[in-house]
Amino acid sequence: MAALGKIVWVIGIIAWYFIRVPFERRAKRVRVVSTRRSPLDMFGLASGLLGLAIIPGFYVATGIPAAADYSARPWAVVLGAVIFFFALWFFRRTHKELGRNWSITLEIRDKHELISGGPYAYVRHPMYTSFMLMGLGQAMLLSNWVAGLAGLLGFAVLFFLRVDKEERMMLEIFGPQYRDYMQRTRRILPYLY
Ligand code: SAH
Repeated sequence: MAALGKIVWVIGIIAWYFIRVPFERRAKRVRVVSTRRSPLDMFGLASGLLGLAIIPGFYVATGIPAAADYSARPWAVVLGAVIFFFALWFFRRTHKELGRNWSITLEIRDKHELISGGPYAYVRHPMYTSFMLMGLGQAMLLSNWVAGLAGLLGFAVLFFLRVDKEERMMLEIFGPQYRDYMQRTRRILPYLY
């Protein structure tokens, strides 16, 4: 069961990469008109990458840290797979909707549009919702306290270092339009937060 969880995680993370790459290529062709790239945001991004990809990847490849292993539960692996693949589907939808407005960090692109449809109608940060769900899926797929929980931790560091700054930037650029949008939506969990 533990091996199955690892295999599902590897397939999921490869799928993640193939979803992201074409969108990244397309968005990078659009000129950036304003950037808030900061060392702190880069630290958040590195935390997300470490927790959601590097630490679990290292664990799957080497079994380290074996002392943190526990026995895998079939229900957790099945549920983890469902959550992880739902997260990937949602991740793809957010990319399709955000399109040319996407950036890896806090940036405004040429002719930036405020997106509020599709997944952006439910929450203001659906891409971060998908990262959180990937972290949750990872925690259920990998029966290791360190590699399993690293994803949620990495997501939390990225999210909490960034979200206030991102919303402030969007408010500066879109003013009342973004304020209205904030009133209609929650951050990452519909109706809750
Ligand atoms: N926080 C969003 C987007 C992540 S990508 C999400 O979780 O889905 C980060 C970039 O997206 C930011 O640099 C910002 O320019 C842009 N962005 C964030 N929300 C947006 C929106 N509603 N419409 C258009 N661009 C947005």
